[in-house]
Amino acid sequence: MTHTTQELSSKSEVLIEKENKFGAHNYHPLPVVLEKGEGVYVWDVDGKKYFDFLSAYSAVNQGHCHPKIVGAMMEQAQRLTLTSRAFYNDQLGVYEEYITNYFGFDKVLPMNTGAEAVETALKLCRKWAYEVKGISENQAQIIVCENNFHGRTTTIISFSNDEGARKSFGPFTEGFIKIPYDDTEALENVLKSSKNIAGFLVEPIQGEAGVYVPSEGYLAKAKALCEAHNVLFIADEVQTGIARTGRLLAVHHENVQPDILILGKAISGGVYPVSAVLANNGIMNVIKPGQHGSTFGGNPIAAAVAIAALEVVREENLSENAEKLGIILRKGLNEIAERNPLIELVRGKGLLNAIVINSGEDSDLAWDICLRFRDYGLLAKPTHGNKIRFAPPLVITEAQIQECLVIIEKALNDFK
Ligand SMILES: *Cc1c(COP(=O)(O)O)cnc(C)c1O
Repeated sequence: MTHTTQELSSKSEVLIEKENKFGAHNYHPLPVVLEKGEGVYVWDVDGKKYFDFLSAYSAVNQGHCHPKIVGAMMEQAQRLTLTSRAFYNDQLGVYEEYITNYFGFDKVLPMNTGAEAVETALKLCRKWAYEVKGISENQAQIIVCENNFHGRTTTIISFSNDEGARKSFGPFTEGFIKIPYDDTEALENVLKSSKNIAGFLVEPIQGEAGVYVPSEGYLAKAKALCEAHNVLFIADEVQTGIARTGRLLAVHHENVQPDILILGKAISGGVYPVSAVLANNGIMNVIKPGQHGSTFGGNPIAAAVAIAALEVVREENLSENAEKLGIILRKGLNEIAERNPLIELVRGKGLLNAIVINSGEDSDLAWDICLRFRDYGLLAKPTHGNKIRFAPPLVITEAQIQECLVIIEKALNDFK
């Protein structure tokens, strides 16, 4: 067993040092400095090529620098970039029609980042609760799940139970009730206990928590319970959406149509920050002029880029590819797990997968394994200590998956 990893070039070291010195230390990146990407590959500043098994947390589902998406951005960038919503522009309405048809909703509210879209959904849900459902002002409660990840704003971290994300950032926003994930009994109990429940916010698979896949039927049952109690079912598909799990949306595995759908990340193919909240008129019409907005939300570049990114998902059958190659990837990982006890568990859906390393959550082993993956040409990052997420761009081929399985096994064998 050898634990020495590849030396960094001085070029990489200089660039890493700049980030260390001049950037806030709000991330702990794997030591590799990238300068180019194409499809499933990225290259570092020394020209070394890697498989990207993180895909920018599933923002680049369509592959790095997809020519159609980059082309749409460049074309639009040379004509008109930003008008603000003080005026109409020739792209936004076209995009709004396209995306609402694409996902089957009456209306969309365009924002930029995932966290902003989650905030928007929470505000929309509360307003609906007061003005349509009839809950008394300031009494609305929204149910959320333990170990959720919905972003980094003050309200969102108010209902996180990641202590690192919360500590010293209080006071927090009230109005949230936390229940265990994948527990419809707990959901039903809260729904029955109060007339003031406005919504249930849920990730169809908990990505940041370590790709925690709920039991079959959970989402359909939860949706039915919400419906029975006149409570909005709000799906945060920022990470699971846009074909990642083998369906256009992860809720489609259980034929669920959310009341409010939150999208981000891959809705732009990773070339530009775009997010969206979708809902039908009965909900969305509670928002009137001046009550919510964003300077960049719905800008012409975002609109053009998002249409191209969504077209690529259809044209290149990315859902089908994710479904098929996910099965092959998990089968290969399970075979490795039989030969190497370091893999405690393999889980996931489509191409959103994780392995759980047989070490405590506090061990550095998963980090060291990721360094070794890097040395052998594959980039992945631990999440929650001992889990390593495997989420390559959805344009990956079967031959490439097989190549990656060889790399993964070889690296893990170094730690056996
Ligand atoms: C990444 C993520 C967010 C936040 O998106 P940002 O663009 O980073 O603000 C919200 N929800 C889920 C499920 C995510 O994975």
